[in-house]
Amino acid sequence: MRDRQLILFENNLIKQLVLIGGGHANVQILKKLCMNRIKGLHTILISEHFEATYSGMTPGYIHRDFSREEISIDLQRLCFNAGATFIKDKVIKLETNNRKIELQNFPSINYDILSINTGSISNTKGIKIEKLSKCFFAKPISSLVNNLSQIDQIISNKKNRISIIGGGVASYELAFSLLRRYENNLEITIFGKNILMEKNLNEKTKKNLKKISSDLDIKEYSGEVVSITETHLVLSSGDKFDSDLNLLSSGANIEKWLSESNLDKDKNGFIVVDNNLLSTSDKNIFVTGDACTVEDNIRPKSGVMAVRQGQVLKENIFAKLTGTPLIKFKAQKNWLYLIGTHKNKALLNYFFLSFHGLWCWKLKEWIDRGFINKFKFTYNSKMSFRNFELEKPKDIKMYCQGCGSKVSKNTLVNFLNEENSHSDLPDSSLINTNSSSLLQSIDHIKLFSSLNPFDFGIISYLHSQNDILSSGGSVKTISVSQALPFSEGIIESFFMEYFMKGIKSEAIKDGSVIASGHSYQSKEPGITITMNGSYEKQITKSQAQENELIYLSKPLGTGYLLAAYFNNSELLSSFDFQKLMRWMKKGNKKISEISKIFKSKITTDISGFGLASHLSDICKFSGLSAEIKLNEEILINKNIEILNKFKSTGFENNYSSSVNEISISDNNKLQNILYDPQTNGPLLISIEKEDQIKFEKEFQSVIGFSPILLGQFRKFKKKLINVIS
Ligand SMILES: Cc1cc2nc3c(=O)[nH]c(=O)nc-3n(C[C@H](O)[C@H](O)[C@H](O)COP(=O)(O)OP(=O)(O)OC[C@H]3O[C@@H](n4cnc5c(N)ncnc54)[C@H](O)[C@@H]3O)c2cc1C
Repeated sequence: MRDRQLILFENNLIKQLVLIGGGHANVQILKKLCMNRIKGLHTILISEHFEATYSGMTPGYIHRDFSREEISIDLQRLCFNAGATFIKDKVIKLETNNRKIELQNFPSINYDILSINTGSISNTKGIKIEKLSKCFFAKPISSLVNNLSQIDQIISNKKNRISIIGGGVASYELAFSLLRRYENNLEITIFGKNILMEKNLNEKTKKNLKKISSDLDIKEYSGEVVSITETHLVLSSGDKFDSDLNLLSSGANIEKWLSESNLDKDKNGFIVVDNNLLSTSDKNIFVTGDACTVEDNIRPKSGVMAVRQGQVLKENIFAKLTGTPLIKFKAQKNWLYLIGTHKNKALLNYFFLSFHGLWCWKLKEWIDRGFINKFKFTYNSKMSFRNFELEKPKDIKMYCQGCGSKVSKNTLVNFLNEENSHSDLPDSSLINTNSSSLLQSIDHIKLFSSLNPFDFGIISYLHSQNDILSSGGSVKTISVSQALPFSEGIIESFFMEYFMKGIKSEAIKDGSVIASGHSYQSKEPGITITMNGSYEKQITKSQAQENELIYLSKPLGTGYLLAAYFNNSELLSSFDFQKLMRWMKKGNKKISEISKIFKSKITTDISGFGLASHLSDICKFSGLSAEIKLNEEILINKNIEILNKFKSTGFENNYSSSVNEISISDNNKLQNILYDPQTNGPLLISIEKEDQIKFEKEFQSVIGFSPILLGQFRKFKKKLINVIS
């Protein structure tokens, strides 16, 4: 892990490659970057989901043959292994003149080279969809997968009438998989203007598909749907059909932001690219997959085509960046279709061949798994890199230490001007406080490789804020020192803006003022925050009382879980990582306010030294012991195997400095959690026994989840912490 982090930042980053969408082609660039590094390149992937869904396996997921993990590519982990930064957000505007991408939630991003692989959306042209109609879209495929639980809710035990609006192969695959998922609890009708008109399907396959569907009682109806209401469909002929749920699999369209860009488009609105997959109107932009039409090479939209384009795209991105000739994409005229039918059978179509059977499904599964497994990583997988140079590498610079390692003045002034703050660059700030005493603390955390720097800004603020909250105070002013990676221009600006805006988003909520700052370049990017706070009544570690209850404000585990995730452990999925991120981005401010109402006398935060160290400090200074119980409730991730297999690098030091203060059975499976370092960890709160019910009720109603009852303070006995079973 350390090697990878160094490789990412050891070079001065001078070119920014931005990938929009984790489609079938862009993921191949990232995979190539896992084993081949281009010195001086910073890559960003923007995707509206943490996972990329593999279309070929989606019907199999719907009928429960595959799990969500099996059909998904974990994009955060792929970026980590590729040395890229991952931003989970939706692009809403592309300004090609300024090479600028606007995002829904995060600040805009500039690029030098752009690769768009955002797939398509279902075509609703000519169909009036009423608000109350229960309508779901087959494209983008990721949204179909995300909406499945909603569809499950609608299709309860009663018999439902489902309409699939489309008529292509995908409509049939969807019908088969839904029928299996809901165990025949459906009446399905496929409506299509043109039923099974795909050019490459032979007559035998079409006949076979129709026979299989009629054997399964799936109806088809030739006609054009013009409106969908809450209860029925209306066709252009005026015919009406009752319908409880509607799925649109009606061809493809592109999103508004892309159709509004000034890139060349074809008559159907798709972005036109040349044989190198570069936009015909902008040679810094590659477009692949459903979103594009390859000039003189027009083919139906499919995942197969997007995968094929990805093989050319990854080479051409490298060629473009390193200044070597680009290669050409040549689309096949015909290709193998493997259409999942029912009960683990598939229908194979190739030129004039058509077979239906179990072996076709096995073949499909083998091909699909072969593709998706390329993007799975295994624990401790070691990768060796081939290094490439950018087309015009800069002379290798000797970077100054000391004050010479500051960021460029332009980047700083541009940022401050945009923010309307400190643009006159004062040397220091005047702080007025009503209090004659101040709480002050300083904290530093290093950037996790591949993490969105905005989210990291939030986490670093909350991590520092804990020090002030745990002393009973509230934050008034902060000073920030940010270490940016060695970089120039748009890359330096990206890191500065994302770090600072993440910090600012929390400072605003907290009502604190950013008083001063410093920024420099470093091999180890990270954020240091000094906070000043005021307090009504200072809380110290010597105030615990016998019999008071000990609570944690949220669960533990950030240290070993991050270690496991970034060591590519298969025990953690992208869903587990998202959960971990949600906990790390949860602040403790409201919780500290509740604990003040209940006159909690002792609050500390669990940070880098871990639970054992922080709790034993309180016991030592208060002359007591803590009697605690460890159970799974204390863990962010309940899989104990991960806890026992992975340790953060800070674990050993925490263990050796606290182990002698603790009495715990050797068989206790949760003992490692005592020494796990926490990033923005929980507060440790003491509450009088008689307030237990009221406190827990108030906590639950304000915060939305329950506090974790750890144990009780007792008269000193044997050890500072006694873990009972
Ligand atoms: C039910 C069904 C079954 C199918 N089965 C097959 C099959 O077996 N074989 C086959 O070849 N094809 C199949 N297809 C077609 C296939 O789904 C698409 O052609 C394919 O997914 C297109 O791939 P892509 O790489 O262009 O984009 P996608 O795979 O759709 O990926 C695009 C990505 O971009 C992201 N994105 C989109 N907009 C934005 C934005 N604004 N900002 C950030 N991120 C964004 C999306 O979240 C998504 O992750 C099927 C389609 C359906 C509906």
